[in-house]
Amino acid sequence: MQQVGIEAGTSGIKVLLASFGLFPSVANKLLVSHGVIAPGADGKLAVQERWFALDTWLDVHEAIRKEIGPNALFTLGTRIMENPKFPPWIRDIETALESMDATYHSSHRKNGIVMFDPTTSIMLDGIGHYRPRRAAGAKRIEVVCDTPYQCEVDFGIVTVVAARFEAKARTEHGPGACRRTGASSCTYVVRW
Ligand SMILES: [Zn+2]
Repeated sequence: MQQVGIEAGTSGIKVLLASFGLFPSVANKLLVSHGVIAPGADGKLAVQERWFALDTWLDVHEAIRKEIGPNALFTLGTRIMENPKFPPWIRDIETALESMDATYHSSHRKNGIVMFDPTTSIMLDGIGHYRPRRAAGAKRIEVVCDTPYQCEVDFGIVTVVAARFEAKARTEHGPGACRRTGASSCTYVVRW
């Protein structure tokens, strides 16, 4: 699937560098050939501060799956959301999961425009959503996710955000549809 005109920021790349120390060779080649990482003055590869095509980033994820495995994608998801800047209105697991969609859109651009503007709350469409659903009072939230990212990355992200605001939270993949098997969305079930 081509993500025309959509770009990602470099925060995920930095997490990848910090988490795995070095990139798997195919991911490395992709990032170098697209100029996302380049050798610095000391000869070491460094992340270039710029937006880059989402397709490139998705190709890197596919390379990680092939070279390391799906667990590495889950780990990447958990690390991406380890130290996010949560907005001040976040007070519990429900508002934290609700905030994910805006945080996600803030780290992507469409035709040069950041996809979420916190001053106007305007969100641009094109990269799917994280949609939490909660029955009133239930200690259970379902997060439906239809981003172009791989299931394991989103699973890691939802798991770590839930656990950060509710220590007892347990997240599992809902039964049935999964993007790995061709579905358009995955559902993650958080209970506590
Ligand atoms: Zn899935």
